[in-house]
Amino acid sequence: MHMNEKGLSEKEIFSYLEHVKSEDTDYYKVLSSMCTRPHKIAVEAHRMFIEANLGDLGLFAGAHRLEREVVMMLGELLHAQSVNAQSAETPSGRPGEGSIYGYLTTGGTESNIQAVRGMKNLATAGKKIVGTPNIVIPESAHFSFDKVANMMGIEVKRALLDSEFKVDIVSVKSLIDANTIGLVGIAGTTEFGQIDPIEKLSKLALDNELFLHIDAAFGGFVIPFLENPQPFDFKVPGVTSIAIDPHKMGLSTIPSGALLFRSPSFLDSLRVSTPYLTTKAQFTLTGTRSGASAAATYAVMKHLGREGYRKNVQYCMQLTEKLVKGARKLGFEPLIEPIMNVVALRVPNPDLVREQLLKRFGWNVSITRNPRSLRLVLMPHNTARDIEEFLQDLKKITAE
Ligand code: PLP
Repeated sequence: MHMNEKGLSEKEIFSYLEHVKSEDTDYYKVLSSMCTRPHKIAVEAHRMFIEANLGDLGLFAGAHRLEREVVMMLGELLHAQSVNAQSAETPSGRPGEGSIYGYLTTGGTESNIQAVRGMKNLATAGKKIVGTPNIVIPESAHFSFDKVANMMGIEVKRALLDSEFKVDIVSVKSLIDANTIGLVGIAGTTEFGQIDPIEKLSKLALDNELFLHIDAAFGGFVIPFLENPQPFDFKVPGVTSIAIDPHKMGLSTIPSGALLFRSPSFLDSLRVSTPYLTTKAQFTLTGTRSGASAAATYAVMKHLGREGYRKNVQYCMQLTEKLVKGARKLGFEPLIEPIMNVVALRVPNPDLVREQLLKRFGWNVSITRNPRSLRLVLMPHNTARDIEEFLQDLKKITAE
């Protein structure tokens, strides 16, 4: 492939793009992804703000307003103290007082990196750390924390899980030492959809004067809409930051993540001066940022409201129950009773079953690492009929 000297016609380009797009999935028969088809209103809003750059927000005051409004809505959803939103960057370069502090990221990975970077900046400024600072995370944490470990000069210690795949508090406690700067809890683990004991982690964090970051990249748009939501957000006193992704169960477009902090000092610790922009400082990891995803998230959150998201979660939970019921009839038990729309199914030889499901029937499923089981995520793009068909195909493969 080379760059041609003379440009091709639009027709030629789009005919090629259509051909290539046919190689992509349209999410049909996808049971492995935490992303889904974005809501159509999000797509429209995204298109409308396609050129908006939140990295230079003096030029894009409208997109910046939408970012602030999204941060405010997310703050309300996650029980932050005040509803007076302030996004990461302001033309003055200082986050405002009495506000919800946060900004829109590209997703859970960036949010987790920035949360730990904030911990490191604050802790190393405030206390004498001799040696390498460390954080304690659950064994079940997303692989984005491997990137944190690799890029930030921080030791990442992994605490064991209990029999329900929640982080074991005794194990967390045993890993805390003089160089520990923070803890991480997961609200909606990638593999099991489990929620760590956030209140216990909060107590540990407060007792030891540690930061506590909650990775709710997936669960943030699920837990608040469950019938009996478990405490996981800023209502829990020790929680200092939360990652939540509108591009997963929030039905927004990619790249839409968000990082919220309890206090402005966190954002301040991420501050970098930006001498040649329309703003004085940036608190974000990336420079140029999509205003389109801010508009998309604003549109879908306002359009669906709490009622719409509740229905969305109810729908996914109904699919989850249907799948578990059908699997039990086939003799396969889930590793845990599903908390949210993620099922880890104990089947014999899961790697082979996964391979066969794809090869023979076109199903995309994934595998949990430890123990190895079939991991299925029931998303808005799945239907009850899909689940019935999947169960029939699973029966055929496992009966052989
Ligand atoms: N955190 C959790 C719990 C996740 O499940 C994921 C992705 O599935 C991430 C972080 C990373 O999100 P992203 O891929 O949007 O960066």
